[in-house]
Amino acid sequence: MRLLITGGAGFIGANLVRNALAEPAVTDIRVLDDLSTGSRANLAGLDVDLREGSILDETRLARAMTGRDVVVHLAAMSSVPGSVEHPIAAHGANATGTLCVLEAARREGVRQVVLASSSSVYGANPDLPKHELTWTSPLSPYAAGKLAGEAYASAYQASYGLATLAFRFFNVYGPGQRHDHPYAAVIPRFVHAALHGEPVVIHGDGRQTRDFTYVDTVCAVILDAARRSVHHPQPVNLAFGTRTDLHAVLAELEQILGRPVERSFAPRRVGDVLHSEADNQLLRRLFPEVTAASLADGLRATVAWHRAQAARRVDVVPQGKRRVEPVAG
Ligand code: NAD
Repeated sequence: MRLLITGGAGFIGANLVRNALAEPAVTDIRVLDDLSTGSRANLAGLDVDLREGSILDETRLARAMTGRDVVVHLAAMSSVPGSVEHPIAAHGANATGTLCVLEAARREGVRQVVLASSSSVYGANPDLPKHELTWTSPLSPYAAGKLAGEAYASAYQASYGLATLAFRFFNVYGPGQRHDHPYAAVIPRFVHAALHGEPVVIHGDGRQTRDFTYVDTVCAVILDAARRSVHHPQPVNLAFGTRTDLHAVLAELEQILGRPVERSFAPRRVGDVLHSEADNQLLRRLFPEVTAASLADGLRATVAWHRAQAARRVDVVPQGKRRVEPVAG
């Protein structure tokens, strides 16, 4: 199976490359990424054909698509606040970009397109857990673009017989996820702060819940879908119905570090949803073999990665100018 992964130099993409390299059915991996948030460093040392370019560049996309059996489409402007600031660019990358990928795949005779949508499409809908057939109500250009991408995936399946599968990811976390930008996800922020002996910042009272999904579990589902050519006319939630509040995440982190983690509280952020939890019946029906990594195991691997990164940062500073980043725990 010859894979194209768009956005393969990003957080989930680089983890997918690593997992796909261990998958016997995968013979060859190509990545198309414009390196806007991803980086070459994420793929360093991995046997992958990395092509720098945008999915909005028709020529580069067509070349990247040539000879591929399966496309995993992850490329996106992945920041919700970024999309609020730049709605036209977000629409370009997330909606038009997805249409371009589907059309290029159809022209090239690709067997299947698996694509990343998001739980953000549920937006203002307060139902819990979130069922795929419940109403969607995007609250940001990001979510609107993801919903458009899902709709095009269904339309390409119905109109052209292209096998598509849109996954709604929830809160994916794991090694390689950045902590160092203003809208970084909560787990890398917590782990980085705790390891550096800084207080973790909780927005609100910490009782908000998320359906955290370890990145290797996401990759296992995607690769199982590719291996067995699983497709579906509607989007599928990719999370396991584990509703965890931030205090429980911190308790787990303290257990792993073997010491308490200091908390500081900040006002709730506008637009943050209080609770998020996937109905996972459809996922379990389509992927009965996949089991989810526990939060304890996923967090342990994430902590190990952050520790290794901090050690590397100390190493690369020339002797005599040794910058010491304290790594506690
Ligand atoms: P990421 O920002 O690390 O990865 C996105 C990748 O796409 C980056 O490498 C970026 O350089 C690339 N990219 C952006 N625009 C591009 C373009 N026009 N052409 C080519 N490449 C482009 O984000 P991630 O967390 O790895 O997310 C991967 C996918 O999963 C995205 O589609 C995102 O919307 C979706 N998703 C992620 C989460 C999560 O919790 N991380 C949740 C819901 C959905």
